Amino acid sequence: MEEKKKKVETDSLLDIENLYVQYDTDDAVVHALNGLTLQVYRGEKVGLVGETGAGKTTMALSILKLLPEKIGRITSGSICYDGDQLLDQKEAYMLGLRGKRVSMIFQDPMTSLNPVKTVGEQIIEVLNLHFPKMAKEEKQQRVDDILAMVGIPAERKKEFAHQFSGGMKQRIVIAMALIAQPELLLADEPTTALDVTIQAQILDMMSELKEKFNTAVILITHDLGVVAEFCDRVVVVYSGKVVEQGTVEQIFSRTKNHPYTAGLLNCIPDLESTADRLIPIPGQMPDPAHLPQGCYFAERCGQCMEICKRVQPEAYEEDGHQIFCHLYSRQEETI
Ligand code: SF4
Repeated sequence: MEEKKKKVETDSLLDIENLYVQYDTDDAVVHALNGLTLQVYRGEKVGLVGETGAGKTTMALSILKLLPEKIGRITSGSICYDGDQLLDQKEAYMLGLRGKRVSMIFQDPMTSLNPVKTVGEQIIEVLNLHFPKMAKEEKQQRVDDILAMVGIPAERKKEFAHQFSGGMKQRIVIAMALIAQPELLLADEPTTALDVTIQAQILDMMSELKEKFNTAVILITHDLGVVAEFCDRVVVVYSGKVVEQGTVEQIFSRTKNHPYTAGLLNCIPDLESTADRLIPIPGQMPDPAHLPQGCYFAERCGQCMEICKRVQPEAYEEDGHQIFCHLYSRQEETI
C-alpha cells in the first residue's frame, strides 16, 4: 500500500536525478557520483561512456542497491524506477527487482558463473527464484529456447563453465540475464574481454534480444565505436557527472561536442582516414577525493577559460542534445 503511494507518473522507465554517491575509505572520502542525472525509456539502448573511474559501474550498482556495504553510500538524489523511488524500497522489493525486472551483465563472465554447477542448472535457478510456480517442463523449455537464442545448442546445458570459450561463457551470462525477460539490462563492458568478431556477434545478439523482449539496455563502455554501432542515445560521463548527452547522430555528427567527448571521438579510428594512430586525451581525471571547484575537465581542456576553474558549467540544450560546458552555456555573460 505504501509503495503505491510513492509511485509517480513518468514516461521514463528509469529516472536518476542529481545522484551523489561516495565511498568512505580509511584514507579519504571518494566522490564517485557527483550529481548524475539520467533517463532511460522503455526499449531504448543507451550507451554510458567514460573512462575507468568515471562512475559508470557505481551508477549500475546504485540502481540495484548493491554498493559495497558500509563503504559505499548514496548521499543525495533519487532513483525512480517505473514510478517507484528505489531509495525508499526495502530489500524484499529489491529482491523482486534484481534479475527479474532489472538484470546486470558483468565484464568478466567468470564472476557470474558457478564453476561447480552446470550452465543449465544455473540458468534455471533464475527461474526458480523469480517464477517458483512455473511448471518444471516450461522452465526446461525456456532454458532450451534462451540457449538457442544466444547460439548455444540446448544439449550443452549439461556442461560446466570451464568447457566453454570466453565468448560462449559471455553468451551464457547474457542468457542468464535475459531468461526472466527483464525490462532493463545493465551491461557493464560486456564485450571488452572478447575479440572483435565475437564482440560484434554479441552486440548483434543483444540487439535481436532487445527487439524480441523490448528490453531497455544501458551499455556501459569506454568504447565509442561500440556505442555508435549499438545504441540509440549516448550519455558521456566524467568524474561522476554527465558532461554531454544526445542521440547517436547528435554526438557523432561532431557539429557540437563537449571538449571531452571531442577528445574521445578523436580516439576512435576514422574509417575514411588512413591514420593508424589514435590521439589520446592528455592528462588524467581529477582525484575523486579532491575534486576541483569548477569544471572537472578543466585541467585537461585545451579550451579552458578563467570561468571554467571557478564555476561548474550549466547545461546548454538544443533539440534534447545537452552539453555541460561554458563554451556553449554562455554563463560567462551573466557573471
Ligand atoms: Fe573546457 Fe571550460 Fe568547457 Fe570545462 S567548461 S570543458 S574547461 S571549456
